[in-house]
Amino acid sequence: MAKSTNPTGYIFYEGKSPVDGAPIVGVAIVHSDNVKTGDVVQTYILRSDMHPSEAITTGEDRSICGDCKHRRNPKTGRRTCYVTHFGIGSVYRGLVRGIYPRISPAKLRKIIAGRMVRLGAYGDPAMIRARVWRSLLALSSGHTGYSHQWRSDFAQDIAGLCMASVDNHDEFTSARSTGWRTFRIRLETETLAPGEFACPASDEAGKRMQCIDCGACDGAGSNNRRASPAIIVHGTQSQHFTGV
Ligand code: SF4
Repeated sequence: MAKSTNPTGYIFYEGKSPVDGAPIVGVAIVHSDNVKTGDVVQTYILRSDMHPSEAITTGEDRSICGDCKHRRNPKTGRRTCYVTHFGIGSVYRGLVRGIYPRISPAKLRKIIAGRMVRLGAYGDPAMIRARVWRSLLALSSGHTGYSHQWRSDFAQDIAGLCMASVDNHDEFTSARSTGWRTFRIRLETETLAPGEFACPASDEAGKRMQCIDCGACDGAGSNNRRASPAIIVHGTQSQHFTGV
């Protein structure tokens, strides 16, 4: 039997960063073996003109990560983002090798119809306009997305689709008051706030569900009073996380 030649991913967006005007690209990788999310379509937002490691080291990742506090600190060299260079580098190498065809969101949505989509497996989804995402998601079974840009004017159109990534109660309250739902990272000693629940993929909730089946992190939709998930800090972030 002949091997399938279906592409592993597609370029569905090329444009400029709303932060600094640098060239950025949106790539959808069709399948994933991520244990937390399950086999969802993973989308990456990258600088199209430099390797992600170079962007991280030089601070040029601001174009795709904005003011996220988990970017590399130039003074200490410390970076607390949970996304490793390795996975992003592999997508970028595919981009340079030309293995991802260009396709409109309207065409790609037919290829990924019925699938769950993660907005911004790397890179902040707010770097791409909500109308592009809505076109891509029109036939999906659901989606998840997280933005650290919830205070920025340019990001407000994404509040209906993405969760505000927050690290403490004050940010939780502030984001909710401006129309966002939240995904909060918390310390083990911090309690859930009213209106929060433990992410079912977390250790503390018994890892009883993956995102592909849960789908709670789909933004405010038309009602930002829906409950918001929280998770106890874990993995590479945990040793440096202070909740500020
Ligand atoms: S709350 Fe649900 S969708 Fe959100 S991260 Fe946890 S498992 Fe995934």
